Amino acid sequence: MDKVTKTTEDRLRQSSGGQAGASKQYKVGTRPPVVVILGHVDHGKTSILDYIRKSRVAEKETGGITQHVGAYQVLQKQQPITFLDTPGHEAFHAMRARGAHVADIALLVVAAEDGIKPQTKEAIQHIKQAAIPYIVVMNKMDKPAADAMKVKTQLLEEEVLVEGFGGTVPVVEVSAKTGAGIEELLDTILLLWEVEGTETRIEGPAKGAVIESFMDSRRGFAATLLVREGELRRQDIVATNSVSGKIKSMEDFLGRAVDVASTSMPVLVLGLQDAPEVGDKFEVFSTLEEAQAYTAEKSKKDQEGDVLDFSGDRKVLNLILKADVHGSLEAVHELVRALPSEHVILRVLFENVGDVNESDVKLASSGKAVIISFRVGVMPAAQNFAHQMGVTILSYDIIYNLVQGIREVMEEMLINEIVEVETGKLRVIALFRTEKNRMIVGGRVIEGEAKRGAHVSVMRNEEKIGEGKIIRIKIQDKDMEKVNKGDECGVLYEGGVRIEVGDVLEFFSVEKKKMTV
Ligand code: GDP
Repeated sequence: MDKVTKTTEDRLRQSSGGQAGASKQYKVGTRPPVVVILGHVDHGKTSILDYIRKSRVAEKETGGITQHVGAYQVLQKQQPITFLDTPGHEAFHAMRARGAHVADIALLVVAAEDGIKPQTKEAIQHIKQAAIPYIVVMNKMDKPAADAMKVKTQLLEEEVLVEGFGGTVPVVEVSAKTGAGIEELLDTILLLWEVEGTETRIEGPAKGAVIESFMDSRRGFAATLLVREGELRRQDIVATNSVSGKIKSMEDFLGRAVDVASTSMPVLVLGLQDAPEVGDKFEVFSTLEEAQAYTAEKSKKDQEGDVLDFSGDRKVLNLILKADVHGSLEAVHELVRALPSEHVILRVLFENVGDVNESDVKLASSGKAVIISFRVGVMPAAQNFAHQMGVTILSYDIIYNLVQGIREVMEEMLINEIVEVETGKLRVIALFRTEKNRMIVGGRVIEGEAKRGAHVSVMRNEEKIGEGKIIRIKIQDKDMEKVNKGDECGVLYEGGVRIEVGDVLEFFSVEKKKMTV
């Protein structure tokens, strides 16, 4: 990069017309690999990421920074490697769903004493769909029960053909506890990238993806951008599908101010007008107007893609989603979309990061929505306001409970679904009295039971000819609540049908039925 003088570069930047794309004018090269880590829960993803970070990033460098920015970079043999440190398939999937190809290499972590588990299979699917090179990381090799051979055989069944087993997928045996094998893992990442890495534009206006986004109470909207092409500079004007703005300041993952972020480098940027969505792509523009026009066009498309099918008589449950960071918001949104919509359609009216505030409640009240908050608080004023307006706020810390909670609300909406259940049949054997809209007839219960107050269908020759209601039932002169099969009784029928001897009255009781979504 230092081969290009600043003046030449500035000239080139100007001549590109602002938006990235004139790649021919810029230097092309292999960018450092961006690595994502996937695998079954508890197999050691976090431990591996922690070990790599702690062993490579000197404590003093971190300056006590605890802010989560979603990625970090380490040097192995002087070559940078970027790790996305939000393990989890939902996040990975959500990013891919929004079109961001953020990872170059995947690490498939399998605990050697536990083997292939459901989420390992899921991870394999995700990796194969993403079509990126990957490495099998056999973790927990320090455990006595570790059996690498067995795991490799299991992998064969999943069509993961590892080295030495008829394939080329590298396997590295590690222990995140002792650190054994981690050095080899980092070397293997570089080796794999040497073979598989493709060239990209490493100079000129940046393009990339949003990997984290949140509201910093002191500094406003903050987002971590991962540069995938070119270089990002402080003062650059950027736009995503939903947000634009001029970068006021940039920090690397250690919280150190930087002026330039090179390709594959994650940087925390401040200055955007709102919190962008995780997984959205970003681009650099020469003017704020162009950036805003891009956002307007993209968000219009986004909304069009979101149009729901309101056909049929399905009910609609409006939701407002609030979460701590954009990563979780994205995951919650994906899960909401995945809930069944056969009986109730879920519609997200609004979503954002941060505590539930009064304006959320206002929106919920006017939009008849339920507020779902995930890992955020509810501001006291908003709580009072919600109480006053009758707005429901449901708060969760665990994703499973959140999904169950939404299901329950959906089911409550269906509980009032009225269903008619047939309770019995009565054959008419005598006609006693006929008035306008009312008849007293005698009959025998031939099936089930006949109940007072029941709705009836009047059947003639097995065809329904009308309906009505049974006002009273008597056996001799005694008023009955219900009459059982085999008994004879007199009933007072109210309805529009002229009942004849031989007709059958089918009795229905009206019940509220609990349905599942
Ligand atoms: P994740 O859910 O995949 O992120 O898994 P974690 O990193 O949270 O690890 C789950 C558990 O396994 C924790 O108790 C770790 O301390 C433990 N663990 C992770 N790696 C190793 C390892 O290499 N050896 C041993 N003995 N324990 C490990």
